Amino acid sequence: MAISIQHVSKQFGNQMALSDISLEIPSAQVLGLLGPNGAGKSTLMRLISGYFPASSGSVSVCGFDVLDEPMQARSCVGYLPEHNPIHTDMFVREYLEYAAGLHGIKNVSSAVNAMIEKVGLQPEAHKIIGQLSKGYRQRVGIAQALIHDPKVLILDEPTSGLDPIQLVDIRALIRKVGRERTVILSTHIMQEVEEVCDRVVLIHHGVIVADDALSEFANRPGGLESAFHELEVRS
Ligand code: ADP
Repeated sequence: MAISIQHVSKQFGNQMALSDISLEIPSAQVLGLLGPNGAGKSTLMRLISGYFPASSGSVSVCGFDVLDEPMQARSCVGYLPEHNPIHTDMFVREYLEYAAGLHGIKNVSSAVNAMIEKVGLQPEAHKIIGQLSKGYRQRVGIAQALIHDPKVLILDEPTSGLDPIQLVDIRALIRKVGRERTVILSTHIMQEVEEVCDRVVLIHHGVIVADDALSEFANRPGGLESAFHELEVRS
């Protein structure tokens, strides 16, 4: 399994953000975490990326426990947080070289060139990040998350705030990346999981309420739409 999550709970003070979550995610799967705001999607992604520890339960990535073997686990994960906190005053190439340096990559220049090509940044690679459109900034964010060639890519609301054309491009890029590695993305937009994901996990108030292949949701009465609508009504 690329990711194994066993009976994970996360509490912030009195607030239970996640309650007894278990998930097994194999390689080369694009999994969509779908749920309303506050459902616990970001918290789950942060636990997998090692951003903070679970209150109870265990998470392992590529066979490495995120608490016991944090360096090995982190080397397997690329993470793009929700508000893509990239350095707007840096040049694209400069920023990616900096990200590559943080991962101790030896041949920085060729790794950065390969990544610029992979995410389609060639026309904008000479610019300062602050000059880029939001769609191209997301490409830079995805490039930094992939620079160390991780087996798992975690994307928190990767298309939020994009215009319709940028949306189409970034979704296509995510599908392309997902052919060769495990991708987990969060969204509160049902159409996004329908376009991009192989599997959908519906999450609500910190609990998994449905977990199935996208194709299986289509066989249910009312399909994914009805399952998702039920969540929104219950929010
Ligand atoms: P989502 O990503 O689905 O919108 P989150 O995982 O961000 O949901 O949040 C789940 C719940 O945990 C929310 O009620 C949120 O307010 C709470 N929460 C998340 N992070 C923190 C934190 N650092 N401190 C306190 N509460 C938090």
